[in-house]
Formats: sequence, structure tokens, C-alpha cells
Amino acid sequence: MSDEAEIAGGFGDLDELYQEVILDHYRSPRNRKTLDAPDITVDGLNPYCGDEVSIQASLVGQKVVDVGISGLGCSISQASLSMMSELLKNKSLNDFQRLVSLFKRFLEGAKLSDSETAELGGLEALSGLHKYPIRIKCALLGWTTMEEGILEYRSGNPSE
Ligand code: ZN
Repeated sequence: MSDEAEIAGGFGDLDELYQEVILDHYRSPRNRKTLDAPDITVDGLNPYCGDEVSIQASLVGQKVVDVGISGLGCSISQASLSMMSELLKNKSLNDFQRLVSLFKRFLEGAKLSDSETAELGGLEALSGLHKYPIRIKCALLGWTTMEEGILEYRSGNPSE
């Protein structure tokens, strides 16, 4: 094991670049705001770690045009929530749901194609987490919470 891997500490052997991406999102979360009249409002809790997330989304048709997040918890949960908010914006609900499936496979350590990896963008920073199943719940919290929000929205708007 190299010295760098030792220093990684709480992040296990995630490499330094990836740690920087995570800490940057944790310290400066994107889209941290409250929306005036969101179409989707949903909260999530990860009891294993005590992480909390709140997500709002405004839609035009099936497309997300604005996102507001807030939350409390560990760096992985809050950084992943921030990354989710960036990827959610300007996506259709269907495309987002597809991305959630891809992200879940990625976190479980599945081999992805080059184009699938490209779709994940900065989320690649969370590679290596499959070795830490308890942290996967942290990383997924924002994503599964938004999935629930979409399901609730669709059940209230069956014609769309
Ligand atoms: Zn956590």
C-alpha cells in the first residue's frame, strides 16, 4: 500500500483526485436553494448514517428545468446529492431514471461501456465505493429519493 492510500483514511483507497471532487461538492453544494413553486418535493433519510436530503424540482412537460437541494450528513451523501442535482437539471424524467439505474450498477462494481462511463461524468469520483457497502447507501440517498419523488409525481399526474 502506498503512502497516499494510507492518507486517504476515511475514503479508503479512493484516489486523491476523486477525494477532491467529493470534498468540493460537499463544501460547495450545487443548486442549494429553495424553489418557489416546485412540481416535485421529496425528502429522504439514510438511517444507517443519519444522512438527510431534501430535493425540489420544477418541470416543463417531462423535463426538469430547475432543481433545489438541501441536506445534512456525511460528505459522500451530500457530495453525491450535489452531483445528482447537476445531472438532473435539463434532463427528462425518463433519462434521469435511466441514469439512476446506471449509477446503481456502477456503484455495485459492474463493468460499464465507455459511453456509459462518459454519461456518469464526475460521478466516477465515487468509484471504489463498491468495496464499502455501507457507503453505497450514502451515495445513493439523493438518487433513490429523487426516484421516489418522480414516482409520486407520476401517480399524481397519470395523464403525463
Ligand atoms: Zn452517510
